[in-house]
Order: sequence, then structure tokens, then C-alpha cells
Amino acid sequence: MTDDTQKHIEELREAAKPCFQCGICSSSCPIFRVAPGINPRLAVDAVVSTGELTEEGNEWLCAYCLMCDQRCPMGISLADILIALKNLSAAEGNAPISIVKAVESFFTIGAIAPGTTGVDRKRDKLGLPEIPKPDPGLIKILFERTGAMEILEKNLAKESSAE
Ligand code: SF4
Ligand code: SF4
Repeated sequence: MTDDTQKHIEELREAAKPCFQCGICSSSCPIFRVAPGINPRLAVDAVVSTGELTEEGNEWLCAYCLMCDQRCPMGISLADILIALKNLSAAEGNAPISIVKAVESFFTIGAIAPGTTGVDRKRDKLGLPEIPKPDPGLIKILFERTGAMEILEKNLAKESSAE
């Protein structure tokens, strides 16, 4: 883990400190209801108590609906902490393969999945305009300027070395 990541984790631990484990966030989470793998309180607590990113990567299941944020009596933004954990995990090259492939697809074709002729036909039938084609040059600039390019390459390299 880099010094930078460690420093960010310390900031997240600080942000989560007022938590008194009431569990309202978890009982409000719609994802927890269908996938008990993500218990937002425990996902954050694991990092707060160990100071390490977890191997499980449960933070990636968060849909960022903000229900937990709205209901936390201590005003803790668990959703933002979970987003920050995703960013740290991706920066370390540990994003799940499904996410890495979606981002790679966005970089290559400007969408996380290619459009289908079926979708085009339906849009045509509904009188909707064609979906505009993204400019690959602009996407490249976006990736380079935000640092996303470096993170994508790191995750792809880690994935291919694991094969
Ligand atoms: S709702 Fe807030 S105080 Fe309660 S467990 Fe969740 S983060 Fe902690
Ligand atoms: S923001 Fe994420 S963790 Fe919070 S309630 Fe929504 S899905 Fe659950």
C-alpha cells in the first residue's frame, strides 16, 4: 500500500469516528436487503478498525443511492466513504474485473457496453434520435487529465499477470 493510500485511509477513519454502530445505515440499504455481502456499516468498520483495504471489496456493490447518508444520526457520509474506498482500491490496481472491463470499454468505444441493433430499432420506432457517437479523442484527453488512464493500465496489468 502506498503512503498516499495510507494517508487517505487515515482521513476516512477520522470521518467515520463519530459512528456508534447503531446499524441504521445497514437496515436502510436496499443492496444489503438483496445481497447481504454488502453491509455498509461493516464494510467501513473493517477499514476503520484495521486501517487496511479489505480483500472482499464489498464497497463495489454500493449503488450510491445515499439512503444511508440521509438516515445516519451522526451525519456520516458512508456513501462517500465507500466511494473513496473504491477509488483507493482502484488506484492500488485492485478493482474487480467487471468494473475494469466496463471502464476499458468506455475508453475504447465511449460506452460501458456496445449498442445493439435491437436498441437502435426500438429508438427508431419510438421516434427517438440516434445516440450520438462519442469522440474517442476527447475520451483519451479525459482519461489522461484525470489520471484514469494510469489507473486503468495498472488494473489491466494486474489482471493479465493474474491469468
Ligand atoms: S447510521 Fe451512522 S452512526 Fe449508525 S451505524 Fe451507520 S454510520 Fe454508524
Ligand atoms: S449508498 Fe450504498 S451503502 Fe448506502 S444505502 Fe445506498 S447502496 Fe447502501
